[in-house]
Amino acid sequence: MGLANCQQCGKLYMENEFGICVDCIRLQQEDEAKVGAYLRDVVDHASVAEIHEATGVKERVIMRMIRQGRIIGGVKVFYACETCGAPIANGRLCEKCNQNIVSQMAHLEINNSADEKLKMATRGVRMYSKEKGTK
Ligand SMILES: [Zn+2]
Ligand SMILES: [Zn+2]
Repeated sequence: MGLANCQQCGKLYMENEFGICVDCIRLQQEDEAKVGAYLRDVVDHASVAEIHEATGVKERVIMRMIRQGRIIGGVKVFYACETCGAPIANGRLCEKCNQNIVSQMAHLEINNSADEKLKMATRGVRMYSKEKGTK
């Protein structure tokens, strides 16, 4: 454990298991409470856009809650397929795109993951230098 850049706001913070600073954890908990309260009133399903409109919580935050399995109860939350935008309730892609990916995977897997890592690395650097500049 040492100093690291918050994955959310880029600020230096004491590293913890969440990967984000205390301020961001508190904000996230408030957001999650809002989403949770909204979903208690929902009958069986809601889309990420609907939750965002009703609670004001960023869609990115709602998506992370979904990915981490923190959406409570039997509510199905629909969000957009990352490729074609079709509504889906689990995974990252709709059925159709999943099939496409599986057939393309063999050729593309190595290149794609290298690209992703590069993108994440450059994003991290940008956030860090932005924060440094505001001092
Ligand atoms: Zn932060
Ligand atoms: Zn799709």
